[in-house]
Amino acid sequence: MNCPDCGNERTRVIDTETSADGTSVRRRRECQRCSFRFTSYERPEWDSLQVKKRDGSIESFDFEKLRAGIERAVEKRHVPEEDVTNLVEEVESDLQSRETRIVSSSLVGDLVSERLRELDQVAYIRFVSVYKAFSEPEEFLRELDAVLDSKLDASSSIDSTDKSDTS
Ligand SMILES: [Zn+2]
Repeated sequence: MNCPDCGNERTRVIDTETSADGTSVRRRRECQRCSFRFTSYERPEWDSLQVKKRDGSIESFDFEKLRAGIERAVEKRHVPEEDVTNLVEEVESDLQSRETRIVSSSLVGDLVSERLRELDQVAYIRFVSVYKAFSEPEEFLRELDAVLDSKLDASSSIDSTDKSDTS
């Protein structure tokens, strides 16, 4: 890395520090000619979208895996496969449009939940119960109440006798 002051190619690293989230390295450098000191940042260039999980590990965004998770949630609901595909595509392009190549798994979960809630409320509840991994039962019940309230408002097409209508 060239010295920003005199352009000399030879600089010496005097201090190295990894950022708290482990995704970048900060180096303090000194020019060997003019002794100018500066800081450089290095971060890996991700080709594809990366998802940072709750435990801090990072894995590539997996379209099929996310789709499978949503398919489990919509099982036996009358949600066309096409809608599920559209949903995953929407979430993916939303994530792609962000500046960072690393997104948190909770952001992915939130984006899916928002859209799933519009699509099918039962599927939504199934999804958040798995995805959010509620730490307390009260948390889950609050979420359920919120959905049931809006169901009463809309008296939508949700059928509690799930198995009786298999059209
Ligand atoms: Zn210099």
